Amino acid sequence: AKILKRGRATLFSEDLSARARERIHMLTDLRAAFSAERLFLAYQPQVDLPSGKVLGAEALLRWKTEDGRSIPPDQFIPLAEQSGLTVPIGEWVLRTACHQLKRLTEGGHANFRMAINVSHTQFREPSFVPALGWALQDCRVDPSQLELELTESVAIGHIESTSAKIQEIRNMGITVAMDDFGTGYSSLSVLKQLNVDRLKVDRSFVMEIGEDGDATGIAELVIALGRQLRLVTIAEGVESEEQRRQLLKMGCHEGQGYLFGRPMPAKEFEAWMAAQG
Ligand code: C2E
Ligand code: CA
Ligand code: CA
Ligand code: CA
Repeated sequence: AKILKRGRATLFSEDLSARARERIHMLTDLRAAFSAERLFLAYQPQVDLPSGKVLGAEALLRWKTEDGRSIPPDQFIPLAEQSGLTVPIGEWVLRTACHQLKRLTEGGHANFRMAINVSHTQFREPSFVPALGWALQDCRVDPSQLELELTESVAIGHIESTSAKIQEIRNMGITVAMDDFGTGYSSLSVLKQLNVDRLKVDRSFVMEIGEDGDATGIAELVIALGRQLRLVTIAEGVESEEQRRQLLKMGCHEGQGYLFGRPMPAKEFEAWMAAQG
């Protein structure tokens, strides 16, 4: 029994160290990718649902590995989070997206809105608000053209300071969206206290909008809630015409998803925008 136990312990620790090694390996790769500029942003259109007019885009982070694979952000952002890379990567995202925003604005797309995702670590950093100011100053776009997408997690345990910071950011003229609403642990009162501009209906709820218009449940509730709080609502992950139709009927204002456009690298997105006329 003793041997068996020791055997198990060894197996367990070997397993653990293999995982740790893999993590360290990936972290080394991520650091290298960051410095070698193998991270890039893809831009996905956000449209006005009734008219289909493009209002802006969400910048989505991509990691292109040396062997040509594309690693999705869900897989490496948690890693960046644990390793202190979140802040430098986040600042790079901010600068890169603002630069692209400037290009689009100068290219004739006035009032174009650029949304970026901000992790709670980045948001909490004291340098975050000043960095927003510098980025805007640098690219000389109107602050109202920049939007920050925050998830409910930013508020966990910090509701008052979060609310104050959001206010400070909105006072600069930047808009704020509540991302993935309803998927976290926060309550409705958190949404009310945080005082954001836009409410994003998570893809998981949009997915449930069926062909027959039945299982519309949570999406409909979130949209109604958004309207009640006088927020602009935007649905993500809109893939079908039927979903668009149902969302419109529910009173949703804006949409984002493969139906309108996939996330595209900068050049491709510029060409896509030009083709919109
Ligand atoms: P998110 O903010 O909820 O972004 C929406 C995700 O849905 C994106 O996945 C997008 O590619 C995907 N998507 C959009 N439309 C459709 C559709 O019609 N169908 C389907 N099946 N999927 C659709 P992506 O790009 O893999 O990003 C995953 C998550 O990673 C994002 O979720 C966001 O939380 C995070 N993320 C992305 N970029 C950044 C970043 O720069 N900073 C931070 N902190 N997080 C980021
Ligand atoms: Ca987002
Ligand atoms: Ca989202
Ligand atoms: Ca989502």
